[in-house]
Amino acid sequence: MIKFDGVSKVYKDEFVALNNINLEIKSGEFISIVGQSGAGKSTLLKLIYAEETPTNGKIFFNDRPLDGISRRKLPEHRRNIGTVFQDFKLLPQKTAFENVAYALEVCGIPKNAIFNDVPQILEIVGLGNRQNKFPHELSGGEQQRVAMARALIHKPSVIVADEPTGNLDPASSMDIMQLLLKINKLGTTVILASHDKDIINKAAKRVLVLEQGRIICDDLRGKYKIY
Ligand code: ADP
Repeated sequence: MIKFDGVSKVYKDEFVALNNINLEIKSGEFISIVGQSGAGKSTLLKLIYAEETPTNGKIFFNDRPLDGISRRKLPEHRRNIGTVFQDFKLLPQKTAFENVAYALEVCGIPKNAIFNDVPQILEIVGLGNRQNKFPHELSGGEQQRVAMARALIHKPSVIVADEPTGNLDPASSMDIMQLLLKINKLGTTVILASHDKDIINKAAKRVLVLEQGRIICDDLRGKYKIY
């Protein structure tokens, strides 16, 4: 589904974030990307959702090269990839329902479809009874669930989660990981960048270790080890 072929990323001609990455992620996989701060995890994710472009090498998405995507088709590619971040990125003046609905409104989706789809997705993430709460009325774990619902609302084939538990306590972190595992079971490919050993070891899924922009370990039923 996603293939990196000799991909490097150098920022401003001098900061080497990724160095000759060769990687294949299959449809339906759950992969955790680990490594120290600055190892290149976020950059790898940004290349997948096309926020950055590689300096060298090629990235393929469903066999199509990402550099061949026209500007017009870029939003379509991004809708196919749901993103979740450490800081939730919710709109503080909108309720949980409105935060998710907004992602549909900006795409011109009709109101009746919004009123049908949003409660369903909030139910899936376990917020069926919290739809009218504002972000400040929700716990960190609940806010991240809203962000997950928003990421899922376009029915993406991939979820990219960049340190989604970075601001959460251990119990909420485990809940978010369980939710990612549930979404993966329902057929969505999950690509997670994280420092959180406990949640990664709980998943016992593929673990890719980055160090200074290189893959130093790719373990199919991995544990997060210290290298
Ligand atoms: P991680 O997510 O593992 O912390 P990043 O992908 O954010 O790593 O960063 C990898 C390297 O690239 C770091 O050395 C970082 O300082 C550098 N870097 C990331 N983004 C930029 C940028 N926009 N400009 C310059 N250097 C950057």
